[in-house]
Amino acid sequence: MLDESILRSDYNRPNRACFLADCLRDLDARLRELGARLVIRRGHVPEVVAQLAEEHAAKEVHISSDVSSYAKGRETALRNSLRDNGRTLVIHDGVINVVSPGLLVPAARDHYAMFTPYFRRWSEAPMRSLASTPPRLRMPRIEPGTVPSASEICTGQPSSNLPPGGEQAARAKLDAWLSGPLRVYHRVYDSVADDATSRLSPHLHFGSLSATELVARTGRSSAGAHAFVRQLAWRDFFHQVLAARPSATSQDYRPRGGHWRTCDREMAAWRDGRTGFPIVDAGMRQLSVEGWMHNRARLIVASFLTKTLYLDWRWGARHFRDLLVDADMANNQLNWQWVAGTGTDSRPNRVLNPLLQARRYDPDGDYVRRYVPELADVPGAAVHMPWELRDRERARLDYPDPIVDLRQARARFLEARGKRRYDS
Ligand code: FAD
Repeated sequence: MLDESILRSDYNRPNRACFLADCLRDLDARLRELGARLVIRRGHVPEVVAQLAEEHAAKEVHISSDVSSYAKGRETALRNSLRDNGRTLVIHDGVINVVSPGLLVPAARDHYAMFTPYFRRWSEAPMRSLASTPPRLRMPRIEPGTVPSASEICTGQPSSNLPPGGEQAARAKLDAWLSGPLRVYHRVYDSVADDATSRLSPHLHFGSLSATELVARTGRSSAGAHAFVRQLAWRDFFHQVLAARPSATSQDYRPRGGHWRTCDREMAAWRDGRTGFPIVDAGMRQLSVEGWMHNRARLIVASFLTKTLYLDWRWGARHFRDLLVDADMANNQLNWQWVAGTGTDSRPNRVLNPLLQARRYDPDGDYVRRYVPELADVPGAAVHMPWELRDRERARLDYPDPIVDLRQARARFLEARGKRRYDS
């Protein structure tokens, strides 16, 4: 069901439309192999689904639960519209998550606000068993509709180097991941230079890969597997926070009292990857070209926007949502809040210094050279501080000077938060 309200909203962006179109094509092909078809409808969900149920005398409609307030409102409207005709809506928990939101709660609270105790409980929770694929499917007589192309879902230019969507692509990626890189994940997951994470996030977001299956197949027998499963638990953690606090998509989860600055020039420099800090610019360029960014780079660019420039996290989250293929209301908004210090981070006033981060996670500058072509000829770690190159070399680079002084920015942040020094 293509939800017209979402298609018309600013959440519908070309990068995700491309991935979705791949997923739908792939799903239809898979269903055909089993003797069925993907039935596609587009419109106002409560009306169109109720009408389809009426035409085929379906007693029940089954859907997967979701946590955003929009999705909850849609569920209620659909339930009411089906109930008017004596039909039932059945909502399946845990299709998106390994452990459903609300299943694990601490004493006297409706959700976990800290990851570590949540993860402890999550690790002990019974995992659902995996269903096997049926050998054949029976299909009622029904007009399937046409599987749309990306341009029929959304207009606009997608990024040039997007990953392919669909279950087949997900399974190929998963098999390659489990048979090698997973083993060393715990050692390299933070290295932007190594680029050695799974890149499975778009598949988890679109459901072309099940998180439950991923955890089951990963196991917990090696240090790599353990670290990877721990990262997957962050997904469930943020979903359970958002399910309990739907307003956190736009309001501070923990208000800090400060007023964000606004500066169009700095926002544009951040968005375009022209801040003069190569590690920040590399992250932003990766986002623009691939519709994806390494997690460490996401942390660095988000800290730079919200703490170094002291600009509103909502603006950064919006830009991420425009481009990320894996953009997800819970993971995106709450990770942004985590970095901005208005979310669930227990050290809300820590600021990531982009130079120290660059030296640590891109020691030879490979990541920067990969994404910032103006700096491709600057060797080694010197690429992180182009302002220290000799005047003649520097004049040849079409690369901006830093837009901010890091020391002054740090002082401004601490003052705004009413602190003399960092709490970390
Ligand atoms: P891996 O390192 O291979 O991890 C495996 C999986 O664990 C990921 O696919 C993801 O599902 C989950 N995961 C890992 N880290 C996190 C995390 N911090 N929070 C939640 N889940 C996590 N992730 C999204 O899926 N959608 C978003 O919109 C999103 N926005 C983010 C915004 C910011 C500012 C930050 C700091 C992080 C954001 N993340 C988001 C989390 C994380 O960056 C991505 O999940 C990760 O980079 C995806 O790459 P991967 O699949 O190679 O991850």
